[in-house]
Amino acid sequence: MLNNKSNMIIKVESDKTDQVIDITSQISDVVKNSKIGKGICYVYVPHTTAAVTINENADPDVKEDFLKGLGEIVPDNIPYKHSEGNSPAHIKASMIGAGEMIIVEDDQLLLGVWQGIYFCEFDGPRQRKVYVKVLEG
Ligand code: ZN
Repeated sequence: MLNNKSNMIIKVESDKTDQVIDITSQISDVVKNSKIGKGICYVYVPHTTAAVTINENADPDVKEDFLKGLGEIVPDNIPYKHSEGNSPAHIKASMIGAGEMIIVEDDQLLLGVWQGIYFCEFDGPRQRKVYVKVLEG
């Protein structure tokens, strides 16, 4: 299935319940190694309590505030029904989303100066996977 030059599975290990992990360099490596030149890079998180987003990677406080804000929007202390007890994580994962698409030019991700690709853990610590597909075009 995955794992050739244009299709890769990246492993991510979280060590907190809620955590933002910068995966930009791993995704950039997949894009470089694919040697497609121009195209699209699709990043997909195959989990129901994790997500992926693109945001500022310069100030580390942004990651903290991002999680703090989400925690205010989706509180832990309301009577959810889901027996697994991780409903806030499911809700946050759907709010942020499972995929991101980035334009590729000259084997490089066309990200803005301040942008990074974040894996978002909402039910860690866990071993996670991220699927990356690079399409020429
Ligand atoms: Zn659950």
